[in-house]
Amino acid sequence: MTLDVVQQLKLLQHIYSESTIWDEELRASRQTVPEDVSTEQLQALEVAGHEPNHFVRPQHEETIRELRTLAERWTLQEAAQAFVASLWSAPMIWRSLLTGKLIATSIPDHEYSPYPSSHKCQICGLDVNDGVDTSLQWYWRMTNGTPLDGDIFGHVIALREMAASSQELPVPSEYDRWTLRAVLTVLRNLPPKTRYSKAADALKKEQLLPTKKVYVYRDLLETLALVGILDTPEQPGMITAFTSYAERDKRPNTRVEVQAPLAWWDSSVGINEHNLNLIFGELNCSDVSLEDKPEPNPMASETVMGAFESRRGVRTKAKVPKKSPDAGTGEVQPGDVYAVKVLSGSWVTVYCHEVRDKRAIVEYLDGVFPDMPVKEDLILTVRPRPDERWQCSAIGMDSTSWVRRVARDMPAPATSQPKPESVPFHAAKDLRHMASWCFPNL
Ligand SMILES: [Zn+2]
Repeated sequence: MTLDVVQQLKLLQHIYSESTIWDEELRASRQTVPEDVSTEQLQALEVAGHEPNHFVRPQHEETIRELRTLAERWTLQEAAQAFVASLWSAPMIWRSLLTGKLIATSIPDHEYSPYPSSHKCQICGLDVNDGVDTSLQWYWRMTNGTPLDGDIFGHVIALREMAASSQELPVPSEYDRWTLRAVLTVLRNLPPKTRYSKAADALKKEQLLPTKKVYVYRDLLETLALVGILDTPEQPGMITAFTSYAERDKRPNTRVEVQAPLAWWDSSVGINEHNLNLIFGELNCSDVSLEDKPEPNPMASETVMGAFESRRGVRTKAKVPKKSPDAGTGEVQPGDVYAVKVLSGSWVTVYCHEVRDKRAIVEYLDGVFPDMPVKEDLILTVRPRPDERWQCSAIGMDSTSWVRRVARDMPAPATSQPKPESVPFHAAKDLRHMASWCFPNL
C-alpha cells in the first residue's frame, strides 16, 4: 500500500484527532492510534517517513548547527520564491523555508539559557526537554503554516523535509504572484488600527488561500510579521535583526495570543515596504484589483491544501457495527444500556441509572462480549471494582464512536453493595480505558 501526500495527511488527521496520553519517560504526549487504522496504513506512513509517534528530543547546539547547515542550501531569493509559490500552488511546507532561512542567518551563537522554571531557551526558544513528534510537525507544516513563534527545531524538521524532497524548488506561477499582491492589497487597505484577527478575517473573506480555515490566514500574518513585513520599529522582524524568544514573547496584554512582532502591529503601522523590497524585490508587489480576480490556477481542489480540506476522511478497516435493533431513538435516558468497545473483539456494557444536565450516571454491567451485544445478551448485574462499586457521570454518550446504545427501558441491575460515595465526571470515550478498573483481565 502506498499513500499519496493528501492520503497521508488525511490519515494523520484521523489519527491525531484521537486522544493522547502523557508519557512521562518520553516527556511528550503520545498519540493513541485508533484501532480502525490498519497495520498496512501505518506501514505506508512509515515508508513515507510520517508514522505517528516518531519522537526525537532536540539538543541545543546540534539544532542550531543543523538549522544553519540546512539553510545554506538555498538563497534568500529562492526562499522568497518558494514562499510565494506556497501561497497557492505549492505545498504549504515551502513557506517555512523563508522563516527558516532568515532565522538561520540571523541567530547568534549563544549558550543555552533556559528560563528559571522551564527547559526553554530564552534566546532561541528551543525546549530541549520535550520529545517532538516529527510526523505531527510535518502535518502542521502542510496544513497550518510555519513553525509558530519561530521554533528552531520545527524549522529544522521542515528544512530536512524540503531538502529530502524529490520536488524541485517550487517556482511561483502567475496566480501565486497575483495572490501575494492580493494579500498585500488587503493589508494595505484595512481600516486604521485593524489588528491581526480582523486582518485574518479580511484575508479569509477574499479567499486568497486554498483553505477555509481562519487560523491558516492568521499563521500567514504571523509569518509575514516574523520575517519583518508586518513589524514595528521597536519589534523588528528577522530580516532586520534577530530578536530573542524572550523579547518576542513580551505582549501588550495577556489576551494577545500571538508573539511580537504581530502582537504589536496594526494596520496603521502598515506594511514595512523596505523589508518587503529586501525579500520580494524581484517581484511586483503593487496593489491589484480584488474585483478582477483571475481564475485560480491550479484550481483550489487540485492544490494539496484544497484537496486535503475537500476530500472525505480516510477509509479505515473497521466499520462501526450497524445500529442495534433495540437502540431506539433520541438521547440517553435512564434504563438505557450502552455497549462500549474496549478492544478489538472485547465489548462491555454500561447501565444508565440517571440523567442530569445531559450527563448520564453509568455503571458497568457483567459480561465481556466478542461482538457488540444485543439486548438478549445483556447480563443485568452490576460489575464493581475489586473493592467497591464504581459509577461515573459521563458526557457524550450519544456522540462517541464505539459507544452504542443496545437496549432501552431495562430494569436496574442487581447488586448487593451500596452505591459508591463519589461519582466522577468523565467523557463517554473514557469508558473504553476505564473498563479495566472493573474488568482487571481486559
Ligand atoms: Zn538557545
